[in-house]
Amino acid sequence: MIENIKKKLVHKYTAVITAMLLIVFSGCYYMYRQIITKSINDTLNDYLQEEVWEAQASLKMNQNELHIRQNDADINAMNHFTFWFLGDKLISSEESINQDLSQKLQQRMLSKHYRENTIYYENVKSNKVKWYFKMMMKNLYNTDGRIIGKVFVLANNTPMKRSSKQYIIFTLIIISALTGLAWLVGSYLAGRAVKQINIIFDKQKRFVSDASHELRTPLSVLLAYVELLEKQKIAPDITTEMKNEILGMSKLTSNLLELARSDNNRLHPEYQEFNLTAQTRKIIGNFQPVFEQKKLSVILDAPDELFINADGNLIKQLLYILIDNAVKYTPENKKIHISLQQQKNKNIILIRDEGIGISETDQKHIFERFYRAEKSRSRNAGGLGLGLSLADIIVKEHKGLIEVKSTPEQGSCFTVTLPR
Ligand code: ADP
Repeated sequence: MIENIKKKLVHKYTAVITAMLLIVFSGCYYMYRQIITKSINDTLNDYLQEEVWEAQASLKMNQNELHIRQNDADINAMNHFTFWFLGDKLISSEESINQDLSQKLQQRMLSKHYRENTIYYENVKSNKVKWYFKMMMKNLYNTDGRIIGKVFVLANNTPMKRSSKQYIIFTLIIISALTGLAWLVGSYLAGRAVKQINIIFDKQKRFVSDASHELRTPLSVLLAYVELLEKQKIAPDITTEMKNEILGMSKLTSNLLELARSDNNRLHPEYQEFNLTAQTRKIIGNFQPVFEQKKLSVILDAPDELFINADGNLIKQLLYILIDNAVKYTPENKKIHISLQQQKNKNIILIRDEGIGISETDQKHIFERFYRAEKSRSRNAGGLGLGLSLADIIVKEHKGLIEVKSTPEQGSCFTVTLPR
């Protein structure tokens, strides 16, 4: 239980620290992108205005001859490129030495429609390498105000793309490493936090375990005395009442003892082969006086021999808990149906009653420790809410499953599935 709390704490610490790291790194990344993007866009815009001014000036001076300047721009440099077109004719350019790239860019510029002063993202594959560009365009006008050409400016955005990718990879590595560290720190902090609780919890468990163990002997002695009085028929009403109380206390102490043991991880089932049908018959026999008292008819539907490999004592306790509940929560003159089935790879124990049933909300909680459905009602029946939590532990220790199906006022059916 404490280990579970510790695990949950570690998970929470780690999740919180990871979330914080993610927020910090995403925030930094967002700001970095905003700043860089703004500076690239501003530069591109200034550059475009300058180029347009230059192009208009050279057109005025009728300098129409082709003027190409090539630079050996490498993909990792944030170079700028320019293309001036008169109609579809290139009249001036400042382009990459990579002819294939320049050709592809020109084709793109002439074939697509671009709006003025808007930033476009273009990517071009040349010699199996992808270039990313930011592109802007502005029209050229003659003296009558007619559009006669276009000026394009481009900025190589590939380094920015690559650095973003590197940033993301780097961030993920850092976050994974820091999450690992957070997990270690979380484990340490959680370990410290639960250490004191563990000490107190251990003391409490030992106390419960010792007390319930110590109580067993005087209770058995008391029971023996009461049974003696019962035989001698001395004050039968009082002795029956006393016997019931002693039996209730014995049940409670043994449940507490088993729970304390399970918390100490001491509920190791001792597997042995035994006949479940015979054991169930014996338990039903022990319950006979109570069945008779409540006029309950009990039907056992089981093969003569059903050998299972399990811890006999724990399974006996499980049957006691389930049958005892069926008796407690079933009114007089009703039926309790017990069925044992052997299937290919599982054994099934089914205990069905025609009792008060359990509401859907309560069904989700009845296997929790000290949970009682409609508390006052169960208290009248003498329960403390420990039986089913112990039943659940016993079944889980056998790697099985316990389930309930119930309809209020109609009855409940508990199914225990044990793997073979
Ligand atoms: P208790 O000792 O109170 O019976 P359990 O853990 O055995 O504790 O059961 C938890 C609660 O589940 C009970 O208080 C009761 O409300 C409900 N419950 C268990 N078995 C039945 C049943 N067969 N029919 C109706 N209610 C049941």
